[in-house]
Amino acid sequence: MSSSLPPSSSPQPLPKTALSPSKTANSFLQQPTTLSEIKQLHAHLIKTGLSQNHTAQNRLLSSCLQNRHSSTLEYALLLFSQSSNPTPFIRNNLIKSFAESQTPQIAISFYSTTHESDFLPNDYTFPALLKACSRLLGVEEGKQIHAHVVKTGYESEIHACNTLIHFYSVCGLLDDARLVFDKMPERETVSWNAMITGYFQNGFSVEALSLFREMQVGGLSPDGVTMVGVLSACAHAGALELGKWVHAYVEKNGLDGRISVKTALVDMYSKCGCVERALEVFEEIPDRNLVCWTAMINGLAVNGYGRKAVEFFDRMVRANVWPDAISIISVLSACSHNGLLEEGRQLFSDLRRRYGVTPQMEHYGCMVDLLGRSGHLDEAYELIKNMPFVPNAVMWRTLLGACKVYKNVEMGEKVLKKILELEPHHHGDYVLLSNIYAAVGRWEDVADVRRTMKKKKIAKIPGCSMIEVDNRIHSFIVEDKSHWHSEEIHRMLGQMAHKLKLAGHVPDTSKVLIDVDEEEKENALGHHSEKVAIAFGLIKTAPGSPLRVVKNLRVCDDCHSAIKLVSKIYEREITVRDRNRFHHFREGSCSCGDYW
Ligand code: ZN
Ligand code: ZN
Repeated sequence: MSSSLPPSSSPQPLPKTALSPSKTANSFLQQPTTLSEIKQLHAHLIKTGLSQNHTAQNRLLSSCLQNRHSSTLEYALLLFSQSSNPTPFIRNNLIKSFAESQTPQIAISFYSTTHESDFLPNDYTFPALLKACSRLLGVEEGKQIHAHVVKTGYESEIHACNTLIHFYSVCGLLDDARLVFDKMPERETVSWNAMITGYFQNGFSVEALSLFREMQVGGLSPDGVTMVGVLSACAHAGALELGKWVHAYVEKNGLDGRISVKTALVDMYSKCGCVERALEVFEEIPDRNLVCWTAMINGLAVNGYGRKAVEFFDRMVRANVWPDAISIISVLSACSHNGLLEEGRQLFSDLRRRYGVTPQMEHYGCMVDLLGRSGHLDEAYELIKNMPFVPNAVMWRTLLGACKVYKNVEMGEKVLKKILELEPHHHGDYVLLSNIYAAVGRWEDVADVRRTMKKKKIAKIPGCSMIEVDNRIHSFIVEDKSHWHSEEIHRMLGQMAHKLKLAGHVPDTSKVLIDVDEEEKENALGHHSEKVAIAFGLIKTAPGSPLRVVKNLRVCDDCHSAIKLVSKIYEREITVRDRNRFHHFREGSCSCGDYW
């Protein structure tokens, strides 16, 4: 069918003379590109009595669909409603064009009105429809389409399955995605990519990595897309050894030519705390684009190399790669993490003037953070009050953090009030306020906050730490005690506590009694998840080898000082990436300088 239609590649502009009525309809139907040309032809077909000719109708419709402009697509719908015998090809093309347009919902409504007629969907129909559902995050619509896939017998069709996996992953329904994946009679690389990417984009990096292993066992070759997915999962989980292996793999298999793979490598090494390797990869990339520069600047920023991040930003601008809003956020946050007040102020004032970027909420957020961290609390407060947006809870929370560091109770209370107006049920805010009270010794108020939290049933996020041992990620979650109760870990935690005591570590008992920490102190072993992960690492790895832990919450004061000592006692380099930043523990001290 498609062979009788105009070629889809770049139709030539229609010469004005081609519209001469002496030409036959067919000869110029192959050429119209703009809506007005299409309308002229339509008028001509009506005048010459050809408007009911199937071939002419289909060709006119195809012209509309090649244009893809929303007004032309609407015109296509009108033409479709008037055509007597549209081909399945045209119907599918209409669905596909709308699925990729600004109005993907029309693809679905079009399908639901036409499938009741004689239109039988085929293997081109469902991928386009599911694409529309993914873009709309339309769970109900997508599930109905899935039902149609089954009903019409396309359940085993590989493209339909691939797009179903993608659709469910995008909507966060990973169990449904996995069910489709598991039921597929055969899979191609795209199927694996969809499932692996789905896992890591939803934060399930352990599952993403184990699926990648299965893929290899199954003998299927990964491609560049797989590798970007796997590297992103490694970055998220802090799986450096696996990440290194992937690096070697992509080099060996010639998959490292793509800039997306190289950028993913830079990101992976940075997020695993190996800035040197990230820099090596970065410097070898010949034509660095903005995404690539931003990944590197961000990597330097989160690892505490603020000055270097600013340097790289200047280098990028000199290389004529113009920054966008996101790359400026990276470098501003580098300034705030390293207290580079003047550099940050300069950049903030250059935002609009020099780089033509309209300051967004996030830029103000970085400035508030920078001012707050360097003790300019009043200035930060003024900035929030005078910015052109209504401040959100995140913004106030940033300032609340600074109030804690500088023990400013008065402003802390004022700020918390603002936050609670916006988000009354966020446990972290209560925690921060209680920490401010604790820092100035107002224990009655600390206890008060705790009672309020209990009364309002404010839930805490369970702490979770991950550690890579023998190329496998092991995660330790407070709520899942199965892993914790192993005899070995129990014994190691006891031994650690004993050695810490001998080394002079005093657990912060004054606070433990009433301090409301980010993580529950009430778990069976009385240890936070990062300590358990470290104990596991000490048991399972060779003496002297470094340990890398990734944690979903902020490291607490007590764990921080304990880990410093553990690094000295056990002679290990320990890297902990917490919610905010990296801590490189070595010989009894931490790279953050106890300021985080
Ligand atoms: Zn802790
Ligand atoms: Zn630290």
